[in-house]
Amino acid sequence: MADLNGLCLCVMGGDRREVELVRVLAESGANVRSYGVPQAGLNGPLRACSLAANAEEACAGADAIILPLSGTDASGCVRISASPVCITRELLSVLRPGAALFSGTIVAWVRDACAAAGVRMVETGNDDELAILNSIPSAEGAIQMAMQATPFTIHGSNCLVLGLGRTGATLARMLRGIGANVWAAARKPKDRARATEMCLAPVSFSDLPACLPQMDIVFNTVPAVVLNRELIYVMRRTAVIIDLASAPGGTDFASAAERGIHAELAPGLPGKAAPLTAGRILSRVIPEIVEANLRRS
Ligand code: NAP
Repeated sequence: MADLNGLCLCVMGGDRREVELVRVLAESGANVRSYGVPQAGLNGPLRACSLAANAEEACAGADAIILPLSGTDASGCVRISASPVCITRELLSVLRPGAALFSGTIVAWVRDACAAAGVRMVETGNDDELAILNSIPSAEGAIQMAMQATPFTIHGSNCLVLGLGRTGATLARMLRGIGANVWAAARKPKDRARATEMCLAPVSFSDLPACLPQMDIVFNTVPAVVLNRELIYVMRRTAVIIDLASAPGGTDFASAAERGIHAELAPGLPGKAAPLTAGRILSRVIPEIVEANLRRS
């Protein structure tokens, strides 16, 4: 277990996963202040956790702010049920000097605010251990969405996974495990070689016009527009697109709607599909990341 004794940490925003995280951070010795974490889950005997009345109180003198894996929106706001909190230079300036901000993703607005306030940034979504463990509930959640959106079984269906990174590889393996015919699109020859090794049908992005007309379900994990209008129009009208990539996804959703294709952006799957497991994953990895970054300074 990480040693966080003497550190004051502000956990801001999140869902049931952060409830578990707060518990483990407190058990690791940190003085934890939470704001915007579901209160119901924090009612237990958390001696070292206090519920702040507002964001400023939560941050005052803290060594770090910990934001959810989803980070903030493009304007730097953390989604909190009451009202969103914007990560501004003013808010960051109430932290202890030398403090850090941990967030799954860090948008340009927050980067600028941190740079102006002298706050170090740690993008937790880049952590391979966290991303690979999270890919398990993400893949299960994506398959669950596909099951709900289709009148046929995944078994025996033609599935294409776009991107064979940490999430794509897990998803492709699971789809194959339940009997789908799986194609995997990757731009690097080494990733297509890995697809072959995994008994998937490898395709490059230039192969998509020929491959897409045969697909029943397309899962996208590429955080760039890869399913553009032209490609959407070669797909079957009955096909389903589940887009896992971070907002705004990699699909031209307007063209999909125009063609009558069911296409869904699927954010926050770990928290939706398996909040308990996803909370345990956060609690296993985030305290270690915090310790490594705050103890090193
Ligand atoms: P990753 O390991 O970096 O994989 C991303 C994949 O996309 C890689 O194969 C990468 O290939 C490929 N790629 C990136 N840009 C590309 C482009 N312009 N053209 C073609 N391929 C491109 O990331 P990850 O952890 O799997 O996450 C993938 C996405 O899913 C991210 O946006 C992440 O935020 C999101 N995510 C969402 C959920 C959810 O709940 N919805 C859960 C987990 C992750 P190269 O190696 O060639 O760059």
